[in-house]
Amino acid sequence: MSASRPENIVIIGSGPAAWTAAIYAARANLNPLVFEGEPVGTELPGGQLMLTTDIENFPGFPDPISGPELMDRIKAQAVHHGARVVSELVKQVDFSQRPFTLTPNYSKPVTAHTVVVATGAAAKWIGLESEMRLAQQGGGVSACAVCDGAMPFYRNKRLAVVGGGDTAMEEAMYLTKFASEVVVIHRRDSFRASKVMANRVLTHPKVRVEWNSQVAEVLGDDFITGLVLEDTRSGEKRALEVGGLFVAIGHTPNTRFLAGQLDTTEHGYLKVAPWRTATNVDGVFAAGDVIDDYYRQAITSAGTGCMAALEAERWLAHHGIGETPLLEAVDG
Ligand code: NAP
Repeated sequence: MSASRPENIVIIGSGPAAWTAAIYAARANLNPLVFEGEPVGTELPGGQLMLTTDIENFPGFPDPISGPELMDRIKAQAVHHGARVVSELVKQVDFSQRPFTLTPNYSKPVTAHTVVVATGAAAKWIGLESEMRLAQQGGGVSACAVCDGAMPFYRNKRLAVVGGGDTAMEEAMYLTKFASEVVVIHRRDSFRASKVMANRVLTHPKVRVEWNSQVAEVLGDDFITGLVLEDTRSGEKRALEVGGLFVAIGHTPNTRFLAGQLDTTEHGYLKVAPWRTATNVDGVFAAGDVIDDYYRQAITSAGTGCMAALEAERWLAHHGIGETPLLEAVDG
């Protein structure tokens, strides 16, 4: 890493998109530098797969592989081919001048000819003070049942899941392994989740749904003891005793550090050219969940990571940096 000589390609992120981009860039002799981030609160380097147990749909693994192990393996492959890794978050970027400047949390700023943004997305919270306090102090409030649900203090208790999407269904089903009862709290009178997943939840003997309800307050000083639920139609409030709360209400793309320098969709995901990973800034590419509010799969994320590296490689070659690219120009 050097402040004076620009990097060919800097990759920001540490999920399947980032490491796949790093594998391709390293194999193209571009000597990529990866900012993989650092643990902050509930966010871990490795992205959302770090919060997943068995992955059964990543090609090449006939037996289930855990999310963290898959991430370790993809990262090891990138490092094996020569990717350099810095375990820091990038706190600021300047895409207004070439080469671009990226400022990490602790080290000196780095300049780069091309950048791949693959920073993923983070879980959303309801936004209650009591919810955040208990989540931060490990007081029985979590945004990931799969990572936390097996903790001994959740065993044989009534556990609540908030949300009506596929994630909420998945979390509710997972928690039935440990809980005495799972209560799904949803603000409307029907789920948005796929029929198959919703039916699995609705027919499970351990699951009950509180329709038209939202969490108005989380009760408990050091550890959660219950919830105040509010009827979304009448505003009426009622108490529900629970031993854990799992918030599963969607995700927000991690783009704040970009300070609006890249165009986004109306939902805040980075906008890229159709069937490309090029952003509105020439030489900046984006891949993975930070551009994808539709597929959100490890394999699609890895696929766009590959695309971003190939596009960056081509960009560099066309600007006289690097070797002849694998992809030749097709659009001028
Ligand atoms: P989602 O589909 O956006 O669902 C979010 C849910 O949370 C919705 O039911 C929404 O209610 C509710 N919600 C949002 N904000 C809320 C708030 N402030 N308070 C209370 N409730 C709130 O998100 P997701 O479930 O994370 O799924 C995201 C995508 O990943 C989807 O495309 C999904 O199909 C996919 N996914 C697939 C699988 C799988 O196939 N195995 C697993 C997980 C996720 P409303 O319904 O009223 O809007």
